[in-house]
Amino acid sequence: QSFKRITDTDDKIGAFLTLNEEGARKEAQALDAQLASGDERGLLFGIPAGIKDNIVTEGLLTTCGSKFLGNHNPIYDAAVVTKLRAAQSVTIGKLNMDEFAMGGSNENSAYHPVHNPWDLDRVPGGSSGGSAAAVAAGQVYFTLGSDTGGSIRQPAAYCGVVGLKPTYGLVSRFGLVAFASSLDQIGPITKNVEDSAYVLQAIAGHDERDSTSANVEIPDYLSALTGDVKGLRIGVPKEYLGQGIDPQVKERVLEALKVFESMGAVWEEVSLPHTDYAVATYYLLASSEASSNLARFDGVRYGVRADNPSNLLDLYRRSRSEGFGAEVKRRIMLGTYALSSGYYDAYYKKAQQVRTLIKRDFDQVFEKFDLIIGPTAPTPAFKLGEQVGDPLTMYLNDICTIPVSLAGVPAISVPCGLADGLPVGLQIIGKPFDEQTVLRAAHAFE
Ligand code: GLN
Repeated sequence: QSFKRITDTDDKIGAFLTLNEEGARKEAQALDAQLASGDERGLLFGIPAGIKDNIVTEGLLTTCGSKFLGNHNPIYDAAVVTKLRAAQSVTIGKLNMDEFAMGGSNENSAYHPVHNPWDLDRVPGGSSGGSAAAVAAGQVYFTLGSDTGGSIRQPAAYCGVVGLKPTYGLVSRFGLVAFASSLDQIGPITKNVEDSAYVLQAIAGHDERDSTSANVEIPDYLSALTGDVKGLRIGVPKEYLGQGIDPQVKERVLEALKVFESMGAVWEEVSLPHTDYAVATYYLLASSEASSNLARFDGVRYGVRADNPSNLLDLYRRSRSEGFGAEVKRRIMLGTYALSSGYYDAYYKKAQQVRTLIKRDFDQVFEKFDLIIGPTAPTPAFKLGEQVGDPLTMYLNDICTIPVSLAGVPAISVPCGLADGLPVGLQIIGKPFDEQTVLRAAHAFE
């Protein structure tokens, strides 16, 4: 059924990069056999799923949306893929994305853009644009995305679906191709909050192969979905509803807060005073980490290799200039500069210090409040081509998601109505490892 739906819709949407028809058929047959034998079923038994193309899948092409990895067939499964297999979902294919997850519109994919199912002339958001569009278009029931500065939440908002970025460390990054290791997190994109809780339940948990994986007990996320938010204290950052926010988006968020009020929660305006510095801080830190992480793509170990190199340097230089797209090169250059001796203190070190201040903003609000609520993105989905030539404007779309990533806390985007016929996302942010309260509030609201 999923494949039929994909064949019917994906020439218009472009969500998938690789289909796993043969593999999925085998997985489904094995599940049929199990059904006949009457054995206990996994948590996600038989559910068709799609996986962002920066999460490695054994023997199934994993390109990261880059020409560099156009021929890359991994020899192992990412931790989350192993976990999904154990939960018995069926992998339908790999999803389009901005190259190496760098972007907010999916237009940096080296293959083809993704079109927003709500309006084919608009972007689906990014970098997990394929992951959000595939769920919105009903091609699969859930997908995995990755979020470094908003890449799960922002496309979920633009496509009118639910996207959850877990606390940094809750889900193993083993087998996620690293962009900015101190920020990257894998999480589910789903139609509704209950599905999000199911998928999180399946993928969360300690993994010694990821040195930043947290060794925490995994609660029962489904039992958190009580529908009751009475007495919850919500902080609403004034910085998230100020300048640059589309008036209709602001309106939808204020309406959502009324809904919480009517259910017995209370809200108050709060301040996250360092919000203004978040975008600059993020682009310095993420690019610095990326410049280091992407050094492994040298034309020798993975992916494409330049023809007839005259020497080793020529091999590196040509493989990298031919293999990477413009945005990836921009970030490698920025990151290399920020890390270079002489500039390190002024840029990288300073950005690390500001990151601490941003994290403290959140700690302070969470001393008094259970949740922070605001918009996921300042505007609804913009038109394809509208911002692609203007990286700075593009970077500013992340203003509400980036601080959350820098602080490492969990956040979900749930649909909260329309602006000019396009979906708006409500961002519900929680304390570290308190996905239960985030899910509970999101479920009660939707
Ligand atoms: N748009 C942001 C960027 O371009 C976020 C990307 C992400 O979360 N992977 O870096």
